[in-house]
Amino acid sequence: MEIEVQLTSEAIAEKIFPPPSGSFGAWVEFRGVVRGEENGAAISALEYEAYSEMAEREIRRLLEEISANQPCLAAKVIHRVGGVPVGETAIYIGVAAKHRAAAFALLAEFMDRLKQDVPIWKRRARNAEHQLGALKSDHSNLPSRCSAFRSLDEAIAEIHSDCQPLPPVRVPLAEAFGRVLCETICAPGDSPDCDRSTRDGYAVLLDDDSDVFSVVDTLHAADWKPRQLKIGEAVRVATGTALPCENLRVVMQENVERTGDGIKILLRETSANVRRRGEEMKAGDTVLSAGKKLDAGALALLASVGSVQPLVSPRLRVLHFTTGDEIVSPEQTPKPGQIRDSNSVLIRALLERSGCEVKHQHLPEDFEQAQAVISAFRFPLSAFDLILVSGGASVGEKDFTRPLLEWLGFEIVFSQVNVRPGRPLIFGVDGGASVPASRLVGNLAPPDKFRVAFGLPGNPLSHWVGFHLFVAAALARLAGTEPKQFLRGALAEKLDDAPNPRETLWPARLDLNCGHCELTPLPWSSSGDVVVLAKANALMRIPANSGALAAGAAVDFLPTDI
Ligand code: AMP
Ligand code: MG
Repeated sequence: MEIEVQLTSEAIAEKIFPPPSGSFGAWVEFRGVVRGEENGAAISALEYEAYSEMAEREIRRLLEEISANQPCLAAKVIHRVGGVPVGETAIYIGVAAKHRAAAFALLAEFMDRLKQDVPIWKRRARNAEHQLGALKSDHSNLPSRCSAFRSLDEAIAEIHSDCQPLPPVRVPLAEAFGRVLCETICAPGDSPDCDRSTRDGYAVLLDDDSDVFSVVDTLHAADWKPRQLKIGEAVRVATGTALPCENLRVVMQENVERTGDGIKILLRETSANVRRRGEEMKAGDTVLSAGKKLDAGALALLASVGSVQPLVSPRLRVLHFTTGDEIVSPEQTPKPGQIRDSNSVLIRALLERSGCEVKHQHLPEDFEQAQAVISAFRFPLSAFDLILVSGGASVGEKDFTRPLLEWLGFEIVFSQVNVRPGRPLIFGVDGGASVPASRLVGNLAPPDKFRVAFGLPGNPLSHWVGFHLFVAAALARLAGTEPKQFLRGALAEKLDDAPNPRETLWPARLDLNCGHCELTPLPWSSSGDVVVLAKANALMRIPANSGALAAGAAVDFLPTDI
């Protein structure tokens, strides 16, 4: 049997020719055209998403299976993916059999089974008008905007543009660590506010060349006693003391000899030992700009200028669902076939380091039971800014992450990224515009704001890669800051790998050697490797098809521990 299967983002030709073979009696064709109405609503386009390789494989398998009862002599299936405007063909099927009745029966059975068995999803085009505009004006936009599949760069770019900063909040400094500053802070006055001594010693006039001085006063750090010093006069001061007038210098006490009420200078210093008024900042200077991530030093600076309730990014609230009936908590001893849950520990640590508040809930593998658990969940889902689902992100029989997220009101933007490890990667957005009332069960309140969701593959290494590449970027954008960029480094050792058609994110050890970033590739056995996670502090980006790389080769990498 000759089978030709094609998934394409291009328009399907008006005329498809049957295979040039005289050995069959009938060739029947079917064309599915997008209608202007779907489930009672007027539409302008439909969008089809597919795991292309898998869908093609399944179509072939299906035809072979059906052919066992209903011999198929040849078949041609062309399925559109991406946005398909009303009036255009979404699917073309042609089948050949010995005679007409057999060909019709074959076609009917294939069409029935196609819907159930083949991983191709249909929905109203997201932002249909925009896509139609793109369709009409520029066909080259189609594959990247509409299909389920993304390159790494496309996926990152889409996350950047789909995630908008959440409204900022004012918090006390004690709660501001790690947040992003959302306002520009200006100095309320000069700092220092007056000339201050940097030493314990004696303040004298800057241009006073005397060797001997009379000590006319003693000032402590908290004293404020302005007076104009004269030639030959000195004032005893401590470190930090506000100097009594301008144009003074301080002689360190180690460099004078005390003689009753006077001092004699033993060593003339070049330094004036004075912090001059306004030398750090002048009134009105920008102290910190909006967008700055508040680390310890920045908080100290805010405290010093009295900015005690800064406007900052909100603390992001993340809900992590784990899935899989084989998963048990780390405290338990796994029975045969079971596996300890390492992902929730991994994700909690990564999220808490990113300043997020984390809640975790395990879900049963049965979709309806999982829905029931969510409906009975004690936190309203609308309380979370980001929802992460661990596992079930692919298209296995029990992989329900995608329908689960759709049930929760998310629109799936893409569900696969062309990387290894971690290809199944679901990204969904929920603008909060409308969730049908029928979807709201239990305490599922309608979302009142923008939220995003990710489905990450369950394998721990894929989980870790997915977090650093995609989730961290979304968190940064929601917090109003720029996501981390790939940096440039060099391989410390050669990388042994066979050419792979996908980009590879390779775990590595990053070391600084005389200011150069050196990356040692770490061995990993599979995307389930947890051992490597404890050694890696960087992810190298190895281009598709590159194969082995020599020591010293330039590589892009993302640090994972800062
Ligand atoms: P899945 O993505 O659900 O197909 O899972 C892929 C692999 O990841 C399976 O071997 C799972 O047992 C494993 N896995 C799933 N969830 C977790 C978890 N929370 N911790 C550790 N491994 C997991
Ligand atoms: Mg699973």
